[in-house]
Amino acid sequence: MYPRLLVNLEKIKENTGIVLEICKKHGIEILAITKGFCADPQIVEVMIQAGIKTIGDSRILNLKKLESYNVVKVLIRIPMLSEVEDVVKYCNVSYNTEIKTIKGLSLAAQKNGKRHKIIIMIDKGDLREGVYSLIELEEIIQETLRLKNIDIVGFGINMKCFGAIIPTEKTLEELTVTTKQLADKYKLNVNTLSGGNSSSFYLIETERFHGINNIRLGEALILGTEASFNKIIPGCYNDAFTLEAEVIEVKEKPSIPHGKLALNAFNKVPSFDDRGNIKRMICAIGSQDIDFDFIIPKDDSLRILGGSSDHFILDCTLADVDYKVGDIVSFTLGYMSILRVMNSPYVEKVFLNSKF
Ligand SMILES: *Cc1c(COP(=O)(O)O)cnc(C)c1O
Repeated sequence: MYPRLLVNLEKIKENTGIVLEICKKHGIEILAITKGFCADPQIVEVMIQAGIKTIGDSRILNLKKLESYNVVKVLIRIPMLSEVEDVVKYCNVSYNTEIKTIKGLSLAAQKNGKRHKIIIMIDKGDLREGVYSLIELEEIIQETLRLKNIDIVGFGINMKCFGAIIPTEKTLEELTVTTKQLADKYKLNVNTLSGGNSSSFYLIETERFHGINNIRLGEALILGTEASFNKIIPGCYNDAFTLEAEVIEVKEKPSIPHGKLALNAFNKVPSFDDRGNIKRMICAIGSQDIDFDFIIPKDDSLRILGGSSDHFILDCTLADVDYKVGDIVSFTLGYMSILRVMNSPYVEKVFLNSKF
């Protein structure tokens, strides 16, 4: 049945092992981030087999799925006030920036006879989540210390998700210095300094990881790449996920649409190069299953033209293969496409246990 996704579990396991080894050498613990693949239990399982001890996800529903796994579970997206009950129930730790939510977590923990650990996020310029001012940071700490059922166990930063700002040696140094001062001033028992996501990995390799002891990695484990410069981590596999889609139309047509112009399926006016008539093929998959910017044909003579919610159009003019209706085309996936495919009920998932 097509389209289908082939997930090579052995490659993910090897990536995890290699990255764990590098981090261990520098005294850094990995929080394995599972949101990029909907916390699929088969993938989580091979990560645990490779040595992962803590799992993080942005969604409670994903962590709930992993309830029976004996690992520390961390909610890495700032909780919704409406989900605090589930947060204390299904997670050991959550990342936070709002005192109102922290108070909610404390009440929920109290109701359930539990203690809940929090890590406070500090914004270092990427401008997604994080406390921005030092004054507010101190206020949050002071108020949290008055709460009965919350323990502040660490601080963290997140980079390169919204503003495209990558962490530098200075970012990490500032995090270490700030938290040391706060820990001393408020006598905090800080055991986690979380230095960011896969975009911080390049700093570990250059041993510029000032006092940081934790890194949150999704991409590095599943794609084997660091996320600041998109370089492959030596020895890792970038192709653990392969998508196979079926060709439903092959025709020679112009390279530029013609007729009266309006907006396309994405409310945009696309632009095209005139290359005369080209051979175009359509695969039966679309933007609800993949992200056209995060997918690469294995046949590198194919060129992606784009598509719509259920159609994926490629230029096969220069291909050696004489593509025909019914043929299967293979693609390597990037982060956003993996996420969409895993979320799509229209794509069959096949898990492979051998590297080849
Ligand atoms: C998604 C996310 C991560 C993991 O990012 P990768 O680039 O996949 O390593 C880490 N931390 C937070 C807060 C995230 O939202």
